[in-house]
Amino acid sequence: MPPAATVAAGHGPDRPPGAAPAELLRRLRARTGGDADPVTHVERVPARPGEQAPWPQWTPEELRAAFARRGVVAPWRHQAEAADLAYAGTHVVVATGTASGKSLAYQLPALATLLADPRATVLYLAPTKALAADQLRAVAGLELDGVRPATYDGDTPRAEREWIRRHSRFVLTNPDMLHHGVLPGHAHWSGFLRRLAYVIVDECHTYRGVFGSHVAHVLRRLRRQCARFGRTPVFLLASATSGDPATAAGRLTGLPVAAVTDDASPRGGVTFALWEPPLLPGDHAPGAGGQAGGAGDLAPVRRSALRETADLLADAVASGVRALAFVRSRKGAEVVAATARRSLDEAVPGLGDRVAAYRAGYLREERRELERALLHGDLLGLASTNALELGVDLVGLDAVLICGWPGTRASLWQQAGRAGRSGDEALAVLVARDDPLDTYLVHHPEALFGRPVEATVLDPANPYVLAPQLACAAAEAPLTPADLDLFGDGAKEAVDSLVAAGALRQRPTGWYWRHRERPDVDVRGEGGAPVCVVEAATGRLLGTVDGGSAHFLVHAGAVHLHQGVSYVVDSLDLDDGCALVHPEEPDWSTHARDVTSLTVASVRSYVDAGPVGLFLGEVDVTSQVVSYQRRRISSGEVIDTRPLDLPARELRTVAVWFTLSPESLAAAGVEPADVPGALHAAEHAAIGLLPLMATCDRWDIGGLSTALHPDTEAPTVFVYDGHPGGAGFAERAYGTAAQWLRATRDAIAECGCEAGCPSCVQSPKCGNGNNPLSKPGALRVLDVVLANLPAPGAALPRQGDRRSE
Ligand SMILES: [Zn+2]
Ligand SMILES: [Zn+2]
Repeated sequence: MPPAATVAAGHGPDRPPGAAPAELLRRLRARTGGDADPVTHVERVPARPGEQAPWPQWTPEELRAAFARRGVVAPWRHQAEAADLAYAGTHVVVATGTASGKSLAYQLPALATLLADPRATVLYLAPTKALAADQLRAVAGLELDGVRPATYDGDTPRAEREWIRRHSRFVLTNPDMLHHGVLPGHAHWSGFLRRLAYVIVDECHTYRGVFGSHVAHVLRRLRRQCARFGRTPVFLLASATSGDPATAAGRLTGLPVAAVTDDASPRGGVTFALWEPPLLPGDHAPGAGGQAGGAGDLAPVRRSALRETADLLADAVASGVRALAFVRSRKGAEVVAATARRSLDEAVPGLGDRVAAYRAGYLREERRELERALLHGDLLGLASTNALELGVDLVGLDAVLICGWPGTRASLWQQAGRAGRSGDEALAVLVARDDPLDTYLVHHPEALFGRPVEATVLDPANPYVLAPQLACAAAEAPLTPADLDLFGDGAKEAVDSLVAAGALRQRPTGWYWRHRERPDVDVRGEGGAPVCVVEAATGRLLGTVDGGSAHFLVHAGAVHLHQGVSYVVDSLDLDDGCALVHPEEPDWSTHARDVTSLTVASVRSYVDAGPVGLFLGEVDVTSQVVSYQRRRISSGEVIDTRPLDLPARELRTVAVWFTLSPESLAAAGVEPADVPGALHAAEHAAIGLLPLMATCDRWDIGGLSTALHPDTEAPTVFVYDGHPGGAGFAERAYGTAAQWLRATRDAIAECGCEAGCPSCVQSPKCGNGNNPLSKPGALRVLDVVLANLPAPGAALPRQGDRRSE
């Protein structure tokens, strides 16, 4: 990682001529022939020179010399700014781009403090063990006396743990270990915690949704333990570029946090193209009047994003440029690499050898070998999963191909940032998949360029997170009234519920945990005990799947990927919490489908907009996974649908919903018989577009639409968080409803299909087989909603807050 102002690296060996991005894009475009131009937009992101700052005057000479040995002659301005704030005791988040040197921004004040105060300690948290291991190498490589950095995680041998607690002054761990190991064993850590100067939270944007809400309380528990020793450590957070990082970091830590967002590291220019694969001709289109059931199999389809990406990768390699393709799934990355290799070998035998696939789970040596091969040009094309976002250092790439919207603008920029790192001009191409959000984005460049990336969404007040976390805190030390402020909104109610449930006992001095065993709380899983995935032939435990997803992911017949190896599930035993699998790599993927019913439990807030109502509230969702589809990986073609026999499950969660009066629908020209299809199509597209507003993906949320719901007594579309107690996504949708539904309407209107396709109103996880669906009806429904709903920022006509038990 070049964390700071390294000396310019030059152009790397044997750089091919003619790799200028505009020329390369022209060549890629030319291949597609005369028909519709696949490129919907080209954005030129200009190069930016770096801006250095002097070392803060408090920087110890020893540290300056250590950084100089690493090639850092001076910090970039944003690094110095964040370091200065933190050194002065301000909690700070640095949220800047890939390779902008965030680690130097936190290493500098933390290590300077360790050198100045021989007793001080630092705790570093990373979301993954691999990242902590990389950071350990970086800090250890500085060879500073007396710092003794060490990782402390599930893999740390028992024999070393006590030494680390006593002697290491820079401990690297993860939130899981903090939750399960450090905090429950705080008595062993008292020496470390009473001297704790800084808590570094790296890649803090990954703490989102339910997991993020848990981590927020784990950090509050850490603050509470430090406070017992009179310690208030400074929090230093690093984030990918994100919208409003100060607020997100404030929610995560419960503290006021200053944000440094002005990236002063140099960047090469990028030509960014948005690419929409063409619709396949003829035989896939529905026949005349072909409205009959099974619409999913008749709709027109686009050329798959995987095929398109593979062809672009092959063309780039054939032109002699270095290209990296990002693909979401491991299997997908392998398909792209194999397809590109095949077509290159057909053109020039042997050329295919210059393309490889990269999977997560590669060893460090293997990663370094790939980096070397790519740097020297032995390898020209690489297809990878997002694993490369973290931890692999590739420089001198001419082009980055992004197969499908990676979920957030933050990830998009992180992936595009892999191109042209040494300051050269580079090409980035976003290849749209067949889904409404991708379709919207390639037709709305303004949603991608020149606007801030999305905010990280988490909700520490979620009672399903707060109550178990307060139980953990009470088991560590009795809770006092002062602690309720620390844990924030809803803490008192959660404590009362724990008392009522017999988990806590109230005494004059506080609330006490009543049991001998500690509470069993999994910060990553939710919705039931995790299900073990076991290889049937050997009895080997491969891993676990959280209880909430088990029905979807490890039902009998499901294809399950583990560390790049494919398994097929033989059976799922819910009583034992165990799925038996065998290794097998079929060329299809599996997609579970469920059926759902929903009742409204309470309304939190609403907007009364005449014929349209918009609501936020608690709902009870009952759902049952009933079948799964098998789909060909290379083409996405549906092979068949197979039934499943799994029990129904209940979920209390948060939903946003809108209602329309039947009269307003009739006036808009939606025939009564068309209402179910119109609402259903609007629901699918709205779910597909919500990730534009909140950092979720469509698998985090569910939906339901009905022409008459017994609780609302009106035609209604519900969209709910797929996590017990909610995760903040529906709340975000409610807060941005006009924008969200406007984008939904535009995505449907701009899709070139006639009667609806996976790029607009079809959903890959529909429990009803995408039937009925009415694309024109969905547009009319959304027009009625948007005509009545107040525009963003406008005064609301009538609204209220209502809470019921
Ligand atoms: Zn369409
Ligand atoms: Zn559906």
